[in-house]
Amino acid sequence: MSYADTEKAFGFEVYPKRDLTLVRGEGARVWDDAGNAYIDCTAGVGVANVGHGNPEVARAIAEQAATLSTCAGIFYNDVRARLLEKLVGIAPEGLARAFLCNSGTESMEAAIKFARHASGRSGFVCAMRGFHGRTMGALSATFKYRDQFEPLLSGFTFVPFNNIDKLRAAVDESTAAVILEPVQGEGGVRPAAPDYMQAVQSHCRDTGVLLIVDEIQTGLCRTGSMFACDRYGISPDILCLAKALGGGVPMGAVLTGGRITPAVGMHGSTFGGNPLACAAALATIEYLEAHDLCGRARDLGDRFAERFRSAQPSRVRELRQVGLMIGIELKEKATPYLVALMEEGVLALSAGPTVIRLLPPLTIGAEELDTVVEKLLKVLGD
Ligand code: PLP
Repeated sequence: MSYADTEKAFGFEVYPKRDLTLVRGEGARVWDDAGNAYIDCTAGVGVANVGHGNPEVARAIAEQAATLSTCAGIFYNDVRARLLEKLVGIAPEGLARAFLCNSGTESMEAAIKFARHASGRSGFVCAMRGFHGRTMGALSATFKYRDQFEPLLSGFTFVPFNNIDKLRAAVDESTAAVILEPVQGEGGVRPAAPDYMQAVQSHCRDTGVLLIVDEIQTGLCRTGSMFACDRYGISPDILCLAKALGGGVPMGAVLTGGRITPAVGMHGSTFGGNPLACAAALATIEYLEAHDLCGRARDLGDRFAERFRSAQPSRVRELRQVGLMIGIELKEKATPYLVALMEEGVLALSAGPTVIRLLPPLTIGAEELDTVVEKLLKVLGD
């Protein structure tokens, strides 16, 4: 039996699978079980910002695995302490503490609990097309994928993204927090307008409502700055992080400002803050900084956009690009083009039915990225 057949036989399949078995990665490349190489613009859905098989992250994981891989939150730990200090050091102004967990959806679950705990209120205002995860709390804040699982948490209201009047109208005395992605990822790579994010922050401050920013996909240099919040010049009360944080090891974090006060027993996680993931995250952040991957995401993102726009095929409706978070909205379905790209040796994602999404490792070479443009223009060509 092939590996694909084995997965089909024994896996509890919930993903729309591609007919490809990946067995190895290095930098921006991955290889299948027949030895074919691909340029990976999926990066594990925005995880491998520092590249696949990053030697410094691999070394940190190996050393920590041989030293101490688990340490419950009831004890202090050297690597966890260093990571917490580092996270707060890079965080937008005002975020002074971090709770460590294991994934994006868990980070959002914690954010929802922390906001209710801090405010004594239960309501949340979220964006249409927003995506925050698949567990019941995070799903309650997510616009799609919910129908078959209701009733979800009560008190969640959805407003159109980038419309400040609708958001102002939805916030009331029951609102604990507004929850937004600065660039909607799953929802189609849709950046918030800068004045919108500023106005949301002002309205939250004026009304005493907390602002939760989901940087699970945008965080850690993806958009050309450590956090997209930095680009927008905003400081939320809570910032959610995951995906790229652990350099491939599952890890999430919730960064909190002064209005969120921790209390013993309000939350917890067996694996949250385990030294193995902490060592991986520390090495990942150090690598991002040492190699200026934020600057690289800016430069390469602009290079991509310039080259793509100079020959933009007519079936493309719009290119949306912030750093190396790239969405190509087509006038037709994206799936056939994802398949064609794979046949050309480039792996890409969708973001809704008509958007091709590219989230390459930020270590991708300029020439590799030029190849991606070339292949895109070839498969999308008129
Ligand atoms: N929030 C955003 C913005 C995401 O993009 C994702 C995952 O795609 C999540 C939350 C959920 O993260 P996870 O899949 O790690 O639970």
